[in-house]
Amino acid sequence: MSVKSALTYDINEAAVALGKTPATIRNWIKDGLAVMSSRKPYLILGAAIQEYLRAKYKAAKRPLGPDQLFCLSCRAAQKPVGMSVTIGRISQRTSLLKGVCERCDGVCTRMIATSTADSFAAVFKITKEAGSEP
Ligand SMILES: [Zn+2]
Repeated sequence: MSVKSALTYDINEAAVALGKTPATIRNWIKDGLAVMSSRKPYLILGAAIQEYLRAKYKAAKRPLGPDQLFCLSCRAAQKPVGMSVTIGRISQRTSLLKGVCERCDGVCTRMIATSTADSFAAVFKITKEAGSEP
């Protein structure tokens, strides 16, 4: 974590400090990261970023098995029906696996590093999502 708690950052500065894209920071703001003003340019206190990320990592501490996705309805790790998933590119580095929860038929997803897609292909039957980049 490379932001300083007492400094303020605009979206671009925060993105650079954290090695993220400005779009990611904007998503965090939509997701609840506290900004100091309701108008642009948004200024974010470093301490708010640290607190947001701590909470985010805590929430993410639901480890998934190698053969599991996270079901949004069950709010738990589940296997997809038929071990079949689609893959869609979210960003250059990140892809999203999407399947149908075998317990509730809801949508289950798993964010993966695109570079690890091959290892997931050994576990899941992966098909490319229509219209997405390979
Ligand atoms: Zn489910």
